[in-house]
Amino acid sequence: MVRITVWNEYKHEREYENIRKIYPEGIHGCIASFLKTEEDFTVRTATFDMPEHGLTEEVLQETDVLIIWSHALQDEFSDTVAERVQSHVLGGMGLIALHSAHFSKIMKRLLGTSMTLKWRHGDREKLWCIAPSHPIAKGIPEMIELSQEEMYGEFFDIPKPDDVIFNGWFSGGEVFRSGCTFSRGMGKIFYFQPGHEEYPIYFKPEIQQIIINAVRFCAPIGESRKKMECEKVEI
Ligand code: ZN
Repeated sequence: MVRITVWNEYKHEREYENIRKIYPEGIHGCIASFLKTEEDFTVRTATFDMPEHGLTEEVLQETDVLIIWSHALQDEFSDTVAERVQSHVLGGMGLIALHSAHFSKIMKRLLGTSMTLKWRHGDREKLWCIAPSHPIAKGIPEMIELSQEEMYGEFFDIPKPDDVIFNGWFSGGEVFRSGCTFSRGMGKIFYFQPGHEEYPIYFKPEIQQIIINAVRFCAPIGESRKKMECEKVEI
């Protein structure tokens, strides 16, 4: 079984009627519900308002892949919890960061760059699959049309990814590395750009399939979770 924790800030859905209409159960509720249809996935959710943001040591120890969506409360996120998540990723926990979670403390810590980008509200996107042989691209069409999406554009200040699987094109002519993988310690990370809260992006079957594929890709292999400590070796 792959044990998944879907973490969401869960702020916009409670504050704005138009967003609550799209995600009445929150973005985390939507993502959890399609993940639960996979027989080998067990899914729990956590949100910002829970003690320790719901990401206690115990929860992380029981998590193979953590999915995060965040936006408005990035600065308020606990440094202690961000450090805890970082150490679990280094030890082999998979991490999937969605949309504006690029700018989370967790991602900034793990990737070490500013994570800045260009953005503009109210655009449309053609999401091109540029690495069709990658496991995250399995069963995904050459291009996914997103009739409404926020524009994220280059330069995206990330370290060089292991793989770029999706490139986004926007009507203003901007392009973006929309789906990238990274390795940190024993952990695999996938960043995926689509998912602005004002549009029903996570209800789209192709987007759901990409996230399902990414969970399988980022899950630790066998018993590979470990604490990253230096070992003294005798000759
Ligand atoms: Zn957004």
